[in-house]
Formats: sequence, C-alpha cells, structure tokens
Amino acid sequence: MASIFTRIIGGEIPCHKLFENDLVIAFLDVNPLSPGHTLVVPKQEMAELHMLSPASAAALGAALPLVAGAVMKATGAAAYNILQNNGALAHQEVMHVHFHIIPKYKDGRGLALTWKPGAIDHASAAELTTRVTHELRA
Ligand code: 5GP
Repeated sequence: MASIFTRIIGGEIPCHKLFENDLVIAFLDVNPLSPGHTLVVPKQEMAELHMLSPASAAALGAALPLVAGAVMKATGAAAYNILQNNGALAHQEVMHVHFHIIPKYKDGRGLALTWKPGAIDHASAAELTTRVTHELRA
C-alpha cells in the first residue's frame, strides 16, 4: 500500500510544498515541532534509509542543505536539528524514508533531546568495527 508520503508526492493529498525535483520533495510537517518544521522525502518508496538507491540517497544529500538553508533564512531560527527515524522502535510513524528539518528557536521551540552518553568499551568497539567493515566489503 502506498504510504501517505507517496500520496502527497502524487498530488493526491495536499501539502505546503517547498522544493521538488525528479527524486526528492520537501514540504512542511502537518504537526510541526516548531515553525518551519520540514520533511525532506525521496520519491522512491522505501521504508528505511539503508534501503534507498544510491541515486535517491545522493539526491537527498544534495537537497537537505539546500532546503535547510532556505528554511533557516526564511524563519530566522537560531539553529536546527536534522532527525531521521528508522523503524517503529526508533519513533518512525510514516514508513517512507524522510528527514526532518526542525528549526530551533531561542525561546526553546524545536526538538527537545534527552541524550545519555556512555563510555566506549574499546574491546567490543574493535570487534564491532571488524564486523561492520566486513559488511561494508560484502
Ligand atoms: P516520523 O515519526 O515517522 O519520523 O515522522 C512522521 C512525520 O510526518 C510526523 O512529524 C508527522 O507530523 C508527519 N506527517 C504525517 N502525516 C502527514 C501528512 O499527511 N502531511 C504532512 N505534511 N505531514 C505528515
């Protein structure tokens, strides 16, 4: 079944469109965390980031700074976060890849984060590095 974003891309559902090319669309989030909260979405219908084609990924990478810069200038926000959720456990609600651009304002509007860093275990980090680099060569 087509995701809600595929229906927006197809023009079936309206949006406040900020940007569009052959591979990517950007529009305002319907439930913004702050004014200017934007979604940058590949037209390729894939649920998670690692599933995208290199062409879609490259187009997303090119669009993100372009759209973020325009949103920052237009809103006058002080800063911004880029958020990208993959999987329901990671708070993904729409199963079609998207990046959030979330302007952060001096009064606190925007993304609130709880970040609890640990200390790296170098032995397990070395073992994990071996496994990931093996996957990257596969
Ligand atoms: P996720 O939690 O999947 O990373 O975020 C999905 C985002 O899509 C949410 O912030 C939600 O407000 C937004 N969203 C869901 N449905 C629509 C829609 O129909 N139109 C727009 N513009 N945004 C939507």
